[in-house]
Amino acid sequence: MTNTGFYPGSFDPVTYGHLDIIARAARIVDHLVLGVGIHHGKRSLLDAGARITVLETVCSPISASTGMNITVATFDDLAVDAARRSGAGIVIRGLRDASDFDYEVQMGQMNAAMAPDLETVFLAAGPATRMIASSLVKQIAQMGGDISAFVPTEAKTAIVKALKK
Ligand code: ADP
Repeated sequence: MTNTGFYPGSFDPVTYGHLDIIARAARIVDHLVLGVGIHHGKRSLLDAGARITVLETVCSPISASTGMNITVATFDDLAVDAARRSGAGIVIRGLRDASDFDYEVQMGQMNAAMAPDLETVFLAAGPATRMIASSLVKQIAQMGGDISAFVPTEAKTAIVKALKK
């Protein structure tokens, strides 16, 4: 039986921090569905199509090296409903610091109340990437800074293109 995990996020853009969590998830699940959240009313810099293309490209080497099947899906409803639709029994979330811990555990517990059939698994961020946040990456890029240390080339290219629009 395939053990499927669902990793929801904005991925606007995907960072080396997300990729670290995705690689760690390969030790737990053999199929990972990346859920790209489309929030009505929350403006993203990259549109859904760009986020999906970048994720598929940068995750393909992780899939090849770990053997974990990775697919990408958008969702605009509850993460627990999207996780169930994808056939996942596990929701993956990353923890960078104490503020992530407080927020993520609260959300995990509310999700557990709504969906007792799903288990949220929290993976600690790697020490080299735990400081990276998509929101800061966008701010740095908007001010002309170099984001190469934080995101893969494909994400940087997509961000630069989106900022020119
Ligand atoms: P959201 O808008 O839901 O915060 P993100 O794409 O920013 O979406 O984050 C999705 C998940 O990835 C969250 O669990 C978040 O804690 C985790 N995450 C984000 N950045 C990192 C990082 N640098 N290291 C580990 N986990 C991270």
